[in-house]
Amino acid sequence: MRPLKATINHHGLLSNLNHTKKIANKSKVMSVLKANAYGHNLLDVAKTLKSSDGFAILSIDEAIQLRENNFDQTVLLLEGFFDKDEVRIASELSINVTVHNQRQIELINQVKPISPINIHLKINTGMNRLGFMPEEINYLLETLNSNPYIEDIVLMTHFSTADEKEGIEKQLGIFNLISDNYNYPASVANSAAIIRYPESRLDWVRPGIMLYGLSPFENKIAKDFDLIPVMSLISEIIAVQNIKTGDLVGYGSNFKANKNMRIGIVACGYADGYPRHAKNGTPVAIDGHLSSLVGRVSMDMLYVDLTQIPSANIGSKVELWGEQVFVDSVAKLAGTVGYELICAISASHRVPIRNINA
Ligand SMILES: *Cc1c(COP(=O)(O)O)cnc(C)c1O
Repeated sequence: MRPLKATINHHGLLSNLNHTKKIANKSKVMSVLKANAYGHNLLDVAKTLKSSDGFAILSIDEAIQLRENNFDQTVLLLEGFFDKDEVRIASELSINVTVHNQRQIELINQVKPISPINIHLKINTGMNRLGFMPEEINYLLETLNSNPYIEDIVLMTHFSTADEKEGIEKQLGIFNLISDNYNYPASVANSAAIIRYPESRLDWVRPGIMLYGLSPFENKIAKDFDLIPVMSLISEIIAVQNIKTGDLVGYGSNFKANKNMRIGIVACGYADGYPRHAKNGTPVAIDGHLSSLVGRVSMDMLYVDLTQIPSANIGSKVELWGEQVFVDSVAKLAGTVGYELICAISASHRVPIRNINA
């Protein structure tokens, strides 16, 4: 069998949740499990994180899966529903829906669900992605409050720069100005805000990336926050080439040896979800020794430098990311963020995902 696999450390996952709960203090924790739990497998992750107060996912299918597997926490659809059937299902299964546009309110009124549904009303405080404008909220809440098809209401917003120097001050200010007029529970914080801004830990928090042991900040690593990397991407050397000074490596010949070198070929490529844009010098660990990529990543394989690791050979273990090589470091050299890399592995449908310590 091809040696490439992703392993999911469930001890680490649970430890990250418990750490998040400690930081979150009195806030209820809604673990974000969208994108197949950031590529870690929805149901397996839900099981390990079952002590969460809630789960946030994207699609009604994921919500159904959670209910069918007896998860009875609050479940939130982050984009709400898209048609009348989904309104009915949300009502039957008691799924919380994000309501962010007028059309969704019209659909609820047309369906007239038998049991009223619980909503998270999304306010656009500056991200300009989903949500009603702040000046619409007073009027909306008046109508929603007397709407017989709507039960509980949570006020919600999402930050665009919780991980950057601009921070959340402006957006949180706009949110609080509205929220302070009412008694509705509030939910605003993603991982970066949870860690960085105590004032954003309101009735609910919505951690995603930190649960999976990645840093939400570009210039920090997960270890800085006592978070444990959960996914390891592991493969093996499947071939070795001894090359001479001046020899070229890979498609486009974009690596030229400036000395005699030993090159290892690793079973992992961009069709598996490894980033094609990873530069020469991107870190890898071979049998526990740090080394780096050379040449261009191909569809099924990539090249690593074995020159300084004479013991490495065909069959040597390669950690592409995990506990030794942080996914954030790989992401940086590929011009992206760790979020994209961990999601890509499961989305490729080529890499077996194995639970350890489950
Ligand atoms: C994805 C998402 C989160 C979690 O964000 P992280 O940065 O992964 O913590 C929280 N809230 C909403 C609305 C999201 O879409």
